[in-house]
Amino acid sequence: MAKHIHKCYSCNEYTLEVKCPKCNQPAILPKPPKFSLNDKYSSYRREIKKKELEEKGII
Ligand SMILES: [Zn+2]
Repeated sequence: MAKHIHKCYSCNEYTLEVKCPKCNQPAILPKPPKFSLNDKYSSYRREIKKKELEEKGII
């Protein structure tokens, strides 16, 4: 595939162009890059969980 499918978040329209053909808003790639905020968030959650266990005297 030469082109990626972009998504317009104004009207939820998918397009191969970088601009939405419907509302002319910029359309972006719906998939976030690798190692996104989700990964940071899950490691942050692990820290919280560890602290919780320490406070309960489990570790
Ligand atoms: Zn649109």
